[in-house]
Amino acid sequence: MNTGSMVLESEKIEAFKEGMPNRGGDEKHEDKRVVMKFGGSSLADAERIEHVAQLIKSQIAIGNRPAAVICSAMGKTTNNLLNAGDFALEGRVNVDALRTLHHTTIKEFDLGQHVADDITELLNELENMLNGVKLLQELSPRSLDMLVSFGERMSIRIMAARLNQIGVPAEAYDSWTIGMITTSEFGDARVLPSSMEKIKNTFSNKIDPNTVAIVTGFIGHTESGKITTLGRGGSDLTATTIGAACSLDEIQVWKDVDGIMSCDPRMVRSAVPISRVSFEEAAELAYFGAKVLHPIAMMPAMEAQIPVRVKNSYNPSHPGTVINKDRDNENLVTAITCKRDIQLIDITSTRMLGAYGFLSKVFNTFEKHKLSVDVLASSEVSVSLTLDKKSSVYKGHPLCDDLGDIANIDVKEGKAIITLITDIKRSSEVLATVFKVFMEKGIEVEMLSQGASKVNISFIVSDSLVESAIHSLHMCFFEEQCEITMPTNDKEV
Ligand code: ASP
Ligand code: MG
Repeated sequence: MNTGSMVLESEKIEAFKEGMPNRGGDEKHEDKRVVMKFGGSSLADAERIEHVAQLIKSQIAIGNRPAAVICSAMGKTTNNLLNAGDFALEGRVNVDALRTLHHTTIKEFDLGQHVADDITELLNELENMLNGVKLLQELSPRSLDMLVSFGERMSIRIMAARLNQIGVPAEAYDSWTIGMITTSEFGDARVLPSSMEKIKNTFSNKIDPNTVAIVTGFIGHTESGKITTLGRGGSDLTATTIGAACSLDEIQVWKDVDGIMSCDPRMVRSAVPISRVSFEEAAELAYFGAKVLHPIAMMPAMEAQIPVRVKNSYNPSHPGTVINKDRDNENLVTAITCKRDIQLIDITSTRMLGAYGFLSKVFNTFEKHKLSVDVLASSEVSVSLTLDKKSSVYKGHPLCDDLGDIANIDVKEGKAIITLITDIKRSSEVLATVFKVFMEKGIEVEMLSQGASKVNISFIVSDSLVESAIHSLHMCFFEEQCEITMPTNDKEV
């Protein structure tokens, strides 16, 4: 397998190594050893790739040393590959756009024949594969994984070549060559635990610590050598896996924002970047669609207790957000999120006795209709819950028929969930503050849920009031720090 060893401009590289803050050996290790991950939009074209390459170089110069850089496919390449697969099934094989994108980039940097040949070889392999799909009229999950793998396999070779050209010693590696071995659940493979040891050994014994390993995100191999993918957006998981396997100081996910925000900036313009969140809080935020890592991607970092830092490649001196073991206890509330346009369903048992089994019947019915519930509150004879737009219940929905003989169902439209990511050990303080704000603004809470996770408190309000509610809460928790006088005695009421 050609791992794309690039044209080394050895003189420049030697000079650069001299200038490195730490060259290993007997010198003191003061550099931060990190893994950096860059997503597709950060690598969309030559200009973006150049920005990232220069960023890596300047980060090394200030002691932020990547053992590995994980790259996604360039721009929308993964989607384009998936489309190319569909077209092949319809009888059309065309990789022109992908050829143009990758070869134009190579030309713009003047990366030379060697790199161009490597990419041509991959593109030809891709084209052959698509011709196979066209002939066989078959595109299995296993073939799909092989198909999309070409995106990352091309992007790393270009990135490594550009880094070498600007004097940063780099080498491209398809992830399996460094030990990324997975299960065979194509499209959604899991990293095998044995990969950790393999990756660690590769980095300690085979990769020159003065070279940056440029590694394909998102893809892996089964033990028998079949290419797999880790699910869409899987490059983050590649980064956390390598960071954990090599016990690096930090896992850095570079984006184009200053980190995780206190609130959606499209809703609250004065939203601020959060400096620190716990893994649990970040997972909760991800669920609400905040630009965070997928909870699965955080697992390796969480287990190895390695901080994940979300940083802005357009503002590299900003510290970004650190996701770590502990939350930031200086702030009562970490972030405010919301989910709009949801339904609130009240289900009240019509059998006054034997509430026994009522909840289980309700949940079984929701499961039967594949309706996933977000927030929930219950009493012995009733349960209220919310459903998002994707799984809404309408008049005459089969759910109502199924539950009709045991309950009355009342569906209320136009609701929103406001969720505060906070430490629920301080819930009295949070609730007192929220209700003070809501009382001042005349906002009624229709349902409340707390405690299922240790980091969130949710309020259901009318969707028409959500903006005013969130603005006021943000103002109170993040801007004006409004005061709530808590009783001084310790007795809980
Ligand atoms: N390129 C893959 C995707 O678009 C993986 C990633 O970007 O993390 O899903
Ligand atoms: Mg992507």
